[in-house]
Amino acid sequence: MRLLLVEDDSLLADSLVNRLTREGFVVDHTPSAATAFALGAQEDYRIIVLDLGLPDGNGLDVLAQLREKRLNMPVLILTARGGWQDKVNGLKAGADDYLAKPFQAEELVARLHALIRRSEGRVRSNLIVGDYQLDETRQRVKTPDGKDHTLTGTEFRLLRCLMSRPGQLFSKDELIEQLYNLDDSPSGNTIEAYVRRIRKILGQHAITTHRGQGYSFDGAQ
Ligand code: CA
Repeated sequence: MRLLLVEDDSLLADSLVNRLTREGFVVDHTPSAATAFALGAQEDYRIIVLDLGLPDGNGLDVLAQLREKRLNMPVLILTARGGWQDKVNGLKAGADDYLAKPFQAEELVARLHALIRRSEGRVRSNLIVGDYQLDETRQRVKTPDGKDHTLTGTEFRLLRCLMSRPGQLFSKDELIEQLYNLDDSPSGNTIEAYVRRIRKILGQHAITTHRGQGYSFDGAQ
């Protein structure tokens, strides 16, 4: 899941990048309002965490510009403690949730998962396709034989991406975009290697190869 973090407090940003990466997000970070708008318009983010007071502008303007371009990914704004006016203005400008600083990283993560679930039309925290269950908080997958398997970070992100839209064809380029941030540049072969590893866990048929086009998760056994 690609996530854009817009925050100019570098200490807070560094700790959030670490935490969110451990939670399975693929994070791009910028302290700049202008870069935030450019990235938000260009990259395929599942969610944006947006600070309001930025050195080159206001996060609310970034939000308004993104919504004007009909970009509808969930946006959580970070507001100053007690800044109720910011909250109201943020929600009016198209934010989906807010969190007042200082906050616990755990609460931020829980809210992000809830926002993404809602945007995907789900109420439960497990992704279920056929007899496969992906536990997002523990980053484990349950196979039809009832066994629980631990996944590495990349295996989890790849499987989560495929299972979040069952039956949908993802090209290798689309998967790379969801799995890696702007600083990484893996090749299509990397995706093939990870699909092979996941098939060792799930069996050969859960993921379908569409020759020359990409992959889809169909959940067959
Ligand atoms: Ca700030």
